[in-house]
Amino acid sequence: MSYRVQGILEDAIEAIGDTPLIRLDRFAALHGLRCNLLGKPEFLSSGGSVKDRIAKRMVEEAERDGRLIPGKSVIIEPTSGNTGIGLALVAAVKGYPVIITLPEKMSREKEATLRALGAEIVRTPTEAAWDSPESHIGVARRLEKEIPGGVILNQYDNPNNPLAHEYTTGPEIIAAVIAPSKSGRPTSGKVDCFVAGAGTGGTITGVSRALKKAHNPECVVVGVDPVGSILAPDDVNKKVQSGVCTYQVEGIGYDFVPKVLALEAVDSAEWLAHALGREKIDDDEAFAAARELIRAESLLVGGSSGSALAGAVRYLKSAEGSERFGNVEGKNVVVMLPDSIRNYMSKPWFLAHQMTGPTALAQQIEAALGSAA
Ligand code: PMP
Repeated sequence: MSYRVQGILEDAIEAIGDTPLIRLDRFAALHGLRCNLLGKPEFLSSGGSVKDRIAKRMVEEAERDGRLIPGKSVIIEPTSGNTGIGLALVAAVKGYPVIITLPEKMSREKEATLRALGAEIVRTPTEAAWDSPESHIGVARRLEKEIPGGVILNQYDNPNNPLAHEYTTGPEIIAAVIAPSKSGRPTSGKVDCFVAGAGTGGTITGVSRALKKAHNPECVVVGVDPVGSILAPDDVNKKVQSGVCTYQVEGIGYDFVPKVLALEAVDSAEWLAHALGREKIDDDEAFAAARELIRAESLLVGGSSGSALAGAVRYLKSAEGSERFGNVEGKNVVVMLPDSIRNYMSKPWFLAHQMTGPTALAQQIEAALGSAA
């Protein structure tokens, strides 16, 4: 038997990250994949998402350089919810007040979690362009000017966003893949392919840097962008959409390219051009894949995990993806699973699908109860 000895953690902040890598064998078999499909379930982090990591790092670094002062500063952040939850969690432990600006589209569940952690919420119109004064970014900027001590840590521009992933998420993935295989299945011993959606782009930028710089320069990074967003290159977007439009998947895709994503293009344009926008995935495909993963693997993922999974399957079944990875035993393909169904319990894409007709077991129960009466 093996277990990790962590000792007693100081607080919830210390329980951020350090998530496992889990084989998705049943899901892979359903799609006829022969590679090792591996999920990184970020919902096992203390705040429930991949964004806890950046919240921790952005706050700690801002304290170090004097931008955040306990007892004086108020943290303000425009977010699709998960960065807000991470910030509210870190801030509650450290004693900062928090204001989150959140587009209307984002779920009630995220709002309820934010309120439970003591954050104030301002809702903004989903359709507001990012640079309009009504958008979640515009409103946060106004509040920063007007609220004494207001500080926006700004996940879209803050280098600590991708750094959190370069220093934690990426190395955790590498450590898991190079450890001796428990399953006894063939393994190349490295990460051959990495698949993730991009919101701010912090995850895909930071993890890719870690994988390519320190581990496997040949690793192919597949970016997944929702239909309706413009983060993929123009030629890819033009094939599947006529412009920016709204979509239901939360946390990935934008109507502008965040700086933390563009930064990487300067450092290493080659992988980014190669990576982003390989796959455009629509709402139906994303939600179907999320529900399928929950059923097949008992991993309680949210919608953007479905986008990444659907993008992974599409790439791994394509002529190139299948020849290089999908159909090759021992190739390790890692898929980010950024948050959990906790955030979407009442959304029709999840709830409505659980209200289906009687199963065989339900019929047995009915018969058993009927005969006992
Ligand atoms: N999925 C979800 C549910 C998210 O909240 C986010 C963050 N916006 C992402 C994926 C994408 O992460 P990143 O901002 O690092 O690109």
